[in-house]
Amino acid sequence: SIPNTGAMAGHAAQASAETQRETRRESIFYQPQGREVALFEYAFQNRLPVMIKGPTGCGKTRFVRYMAERWERSLYTVACHDDLTAADLVGRHLIGAEGTFWSDGPLTRAVREGAICYLDEVVEARKDTTVVLHPLTDDRRILPLERTGETLQAPPGFMLVVSYNPGYQNLLKGMKPSTRQRFVAVTLGFPEPRLEVAILIGETGIESAWAEMLVRIAGSLRALKDHDLEEGVSTRLLVYAATLIQAGMDPRDACLAALVEPLTDDAETIAALAEVIDATL
Ligand code: ADP
Repeated sequence: SIPNTGAMAGHAAQASAETQRETRRESIFYQPQGREVALFEYAFQNRLPVMIKGPTGCGKTRFVRYMAERWERSLYTVACHDDLTAADLVGRHLIGAEGTFWSDGPLTRAVREGAICYLDEVVEARKDTTVVLHPLTDDRRILPLERTGETLQAPPGFMLVVSYNPGYQNLLKGMKPSTRQRFVAVTLGFPEPRLEVAILIGETGIESAWAEMLVRIAGSLRALKDHDLEEGVSTRLLVYAATLIQAGMDPRDACLAALVEPLTDDAETIAALAEVIDATL
């Protein structure tokens, strides 16, 4: 016997919460490549850590942001680099006006809050980071804070996501099996043409004929195997090219600036890539 007004108010509140969720859900655009959304959801619901593999600029970060929004979780993103230590993730004592105090790092904050922690390019980080990741990525789901004596138990809402780019790896820097076998993993690559066209349109509003042209160019550039390119042109760069064309830049100049120059410094390769563009435009 809920009073009528209360029920109404409750209903209205629910409706507006629903709308908010909707709008928030729509605010990040992500074009799935395959079944990665379902994988992420199963992993999240079953408290499994996820590893996203793929070349630079293929949508890994966007995907994680999108999933965080979908699940209404806060997201802590850490861009890993070769000086990043366990203390950078976990926290450290700092010296303030009133003496030393403990300051949580992003990983600790994510564990405390039940948020998603995303470690971008995790293999770049110092080896000592694995010490803190291991107990978090098995069924214990704990984060021992050596310096404060605390041991945090990760709540169900906490999720660890890491990304890495197999293309950058060399034998010395690859991830150890003992670490990589703690994650369920999915590969994102260059999206298939139809999807990449949708991404360009979704990101920039460019006309479909232009989006298709850019994706065709990308296909030809990616097919050039005999040149010493470390990695093929990314979706991110295609978005740049589309943005420049949308803004009125000469399409050839836009393609050279966004799809050729960022890939290489070698004059011969630049000339070869430019030829591909001229053949397609
Ligand atoms: P990564 O983390 O793999 O280096 P990002 O997630 O930052 O790459 O993606 C780079 C850019 O490419 C994004 O800002 C977005 O504009 C675009 N992009 C790539 N893939 C997608 C996708 N599947 N849906 C929407 N945008 C995408």
